[in-house]
Amino acid sequence: MFAQELVLKQRTEILHALCSSGSAERLERVLDLLLAQGELVWEEYQNIQVPGRALYTNARHLLDLVYTKGVDTCEIFLTALKKVVPEEQGAALSSSGGCLDLEKKGACQSTATQTLLIRRPSLIGKLQDCIDGALEALTVSGNFTSEDCDDIRLPIHTPSQQARCLLDHVRSVGESAAKVVLHYIQQQGSGASLTQEQLTPPKELLKYQKKLSSSVSAQSCFLSTYGGTSHMSLDDIYTEGQLELAHDCPDTHGPLGLEHIIGAVGTVNEEADAVLVSGEAGCGKSTLLQRLHLLWARGAAFQHFLLLFPFSCRRLNSEHRELSVQELLFQHCCWPDRKQEEIFQFILDHPHLILFTFDGLDELKQSFSDEHRLCCPTQRAPVHILLFNLIQGSLMKGVWKVVSSRPDVVGPLLRKHLRKEVFLKGFSPSGIHCFVKKHHSDPTVAAKVLESLQTNTALLGLCHSPVLCWIVSQCHKELLGCGEGSLQTITDIYMMILQHFLQRRSTLENTMGLGWLQEHLKTVLNLGQLAFDGIGTTCYIFSCTDLKTCGVTEKDICMGFLIQSKDMSSANSKHYEFLHVTMQCFFAALYIVLSSNTERATILKLFELQEVRETSQRGKCFGACLRNDQQEQTQGTETSAAERPNLQITATFVSGLLSHRHRSLWIHCCLSDMIEKKIKQVSRCLSKGMQKHFKSIPPPVAGEKKSMHAMPGFVWLIKCIYEMQESRIAKDAISKLDVDHLKLTYCNIGPVECTALAYVLQHLRNPVGLQLDNNSVGDVGVEQLLPCMHICNSLYLRNNNITDQGISKLIAKVIRCENFKKIALFNNNLTDACTQHFSLLLKTKQDFLSLRLGNNNITAEGAKQLAEGLEVNHSLKFLGLWGNKIGDAGAEAMARALENSQSLTWFSLVGNGVGNAGACALANIIKNSSSLEELWLTENCITKTGVESLVQALEHNTHVKSIWLRNNDLSSEEEEEMTKRESRLVF
Ligand code: ADP
Repeated sequence: MFAQELVLKQRTEILHALCSSGSAERLERVLDLLLAQGELVWEEYQNIQVPGRALYTNARHLLDLVYTKGVDTCEIFLTALKKVVPEEQGAALSSSGGCLDLEKKGACQSTATQTLLIRRPSLIGKLQDCIDGALEALTVSGNFTSEDCDDIRLPIHTPSQQARCLLDHVRSVGESAAKVVLHYIQQQGSGASLTQEQLTPPKELLKYQKKLSSSVSAQSCFLSTYGGTSHMSLDDIYTEGQLELAHDCPDTHGPLGLEHIIGAVGTVNEEADAVLVSGEAGCGKSTLLQRLHLLWARGAAFQHFLLLFPFSCRRLNSEHRELSVQELLFQHCCWPDRKQEEIFQFILDHPHLILFTFDGLDELKQSFSDEHRLCCPTQRAPVHILLFNLIQGSLMKGVWKVVSSRPDVVGPLLRKHLRKEVFLKGFSPSGIHCFVKKHHSDPTVAAKVLESLQTNTALLGLCHSPVLCWIVSQCHKELLGCGEGSLQTITDIYMMILQHFLQRRSTLENTMGLGWLQEHLKTVLNLGQLAFDGIGTTCYIFSCTDLKTCGVTEKDICMGFLIQSKDMSSANSKHYEFLHVTMQCFFAALYIVLSSNTERATILKLFELQEVRETSQRGKCFGACLRNDQQEQTQGTETSAAERPNLQITATFVSGLLSHRHRSLWIHCCLSDMIEKKIKQVSRCLSKGMQKHFKSIPPPVAGEKKSMHAMPGFVWLIKCIYEMQESRIAKDAISKLDVDHLKLTYCNIGPVECTALAYVLQHLRNPVGLQLDNNSVGDVGVEQLLPCMHICNSLYLRNNNITDQGISKLIAKVIRCENFKKIALFNNNLTDACTQHFSLLLKTKQDFLSLRLGNNNITAEGAKQLAEGLEVNHSLKFLGLWGNKIGDAGAEAMARALENSQSLTWFSLVGNGVGNAGACALANIIKNSSSLEELWLTENCITKTGVESLVQALEHNTHVKSIWLRNNDLSSEEEEEMTKRESRLVF
């Protein structure tokens, strides 16, 4: 029978089912469902729900309306009815077997108001337990008045009616209120909201959860990489990496913990569900996710998620079927033994209790795009389309997604769908210590490794990258046997591990000479070709056929560079991957250097990469070039965002392998002519690459300095030059740079990059201002920069995690550098322990111009130390101490020191807790100094008395242009009065 007939025929029974309890709840729940399904428009809903009218009358109105709307609406109505009435009553009613697919429709919403409507049934359930909190959020945000709240809280309303009332009211206020509610609910979801919701998951789900967590735990308890070489338990080796928000966030100070990945901190887009963990290759992204998985599976953290589904993009690349979300979850993570549909429905109904993680988005063959929209979780699609839709929230809105990727492949298209981005910076100096100690159970070995790292700061810098730290620790015997300073570059380190692995398997008694490579050349070339082809085709997992094509034998596999990919292998088909993606790049580079089969154009294209990638058309040429022709014909040429970083790493290794440090090895393995040609080619490419950057520098604006803002790729070229370790090339490449200011802000510059920068920049012909704001330089990086300080006239290191230790080394060097005149260290970790060094700098350098130490932890003690230097310095023009804690005592000491200054023109003590005593002392500078033009005292606690003394001092001074006094302790009348007396005061 048609649904329409059923509605008519069962009218009495339906009315009874809806109204016999005397409560309006069932009718209201049906209305909620119909609204959410789009079967009722808002006005219709209001026409049915007339306050004060009898419940039966309302219900009759609904039946009439539903009937007139036709068969589809009637079908949905009957299904909704069955959902809300008790089972026995529902069983007595006939329905036509329709189904409600809330998520399907819900996924295409575009505004918060729409989302509220579509998610109305579940939101009412959630809101009724936290109505007060939601009302507070709405009041605080200015969307609701207290009268609105009173209306909603009326005692005649049941909790669910209060929730409905709230939603109806929010609708009338508009989009901003809707956003507040959604955000509030989401926060509740990310907190310990399980108990708030008093949710009792179905038994089947709990069984599934148990199965899933035991599988996740099994997968994550051992370090996932190096499967073939170490069985290290994650608990034994895991060392906290440095995690930071990618965006400036005023509320957060210091490093983040793993729990902050999920928490509210640093949220930039509240509508988005995806959090990005970004970081360079080997910085520990996979390991961090693995830790997160393990903690969840063990019940030690992230327990507000009932289910966690971990995915590896590398593995997803090999999924060629079209799948639905349900199939993706169950087939790729964990198969429910029973009731798949019920479990999946639970996931759809409770998105905020579910977490997906996607490791290595950069390894996915396809670049992120939001062209193919998909809303329905049961619809099949290629896996990358599913993934992109999950990330952007078209699918499974509300499910938390944590995605890891290298930063360079994350474009604006993806960024706009991110809730927040956290940046993983590798190990801190203490992290390196901790890791080495964990890695070596014998404490004397650990101590020796650490000692040798301390003597080689270039190597120590490299160890900030966890993967390199692992390699260095792994090869400790070679490391300890090395003469001081012999390991300098990343290539050196990978060469060390190559030697370590090959010698381990050597058949020769003694391979200490150069023969070790010759003995294993075939293996290196076979693995090299596999790696090279893989890099060209974005392939990181290899089948036995791939291995065979490149001639990789069992013996080659036994060397330990390839490990079996466990999840991908079955009894009759094994799959392999390299220990780490950087190892694949290294082997690809070895192949490019050693093989006579690679085309001449390979190197050219590798180094012209930056430019080539700019147009996709040419990108295709490059892909084709890296592959051999045969593959090209059979596989087509799909370009991928994943290519670039790996090709850049490969190019860096090619440069390193061609450096004179390793040339003696190649002589035994291939024709020296060929190597010479390749060296020339690479040198030329590097030099040309740099020239291209220099040519792009715009001419200076009149009156301003000529400035170069580094483009992506500049730091990479610098690193390649460093790997070559030939000062002639560095000199050639940089000597033509003619700028006054080099800007490298937000360029992911850590200690490794600092080493390379200093190596190249020291050859600059003219002094520059070096701006490295907002990077991860740290103390080790500062030390790495020292070799180029003589060519720096100013150094900007805002927001770089620098401590007093770094400053002590920096000042010891720059004090002897003639050109060095300005330093800016805003927002680092400086304390009073650094001020003695600045004091010495000021005493020694009588041409020093600018010292800016804002937003650090300098107190009165530090200010007093600084004052000693200020007293004898006659050159300083700019002094910035914004956002420290020097107080009155500090201000008095500085004022005494600067009283007769004839150089200082600009002085800031904004936000330093300075009161009247400080202001009176500062008035003396105004009285006596002949140079001061601007004094910044905003955000202090000066009252009218303090300002009086400043005004009196100004009477005798004509140089001062302004004194900034906003946000001090004066009433607006007092401010007005003072401004009338002295127009140079700014309130
Ligand atoms: P990414 O995913 O960023 O490329 P991985 O997580 O694969 O980096 O890390 C590479 C290697 O570095 C790991 O196999 C491990 O040996 C080491 N490593 C990374 N992070 C950590 C950590 N937090 N604690 C201990 N070792 C780590």
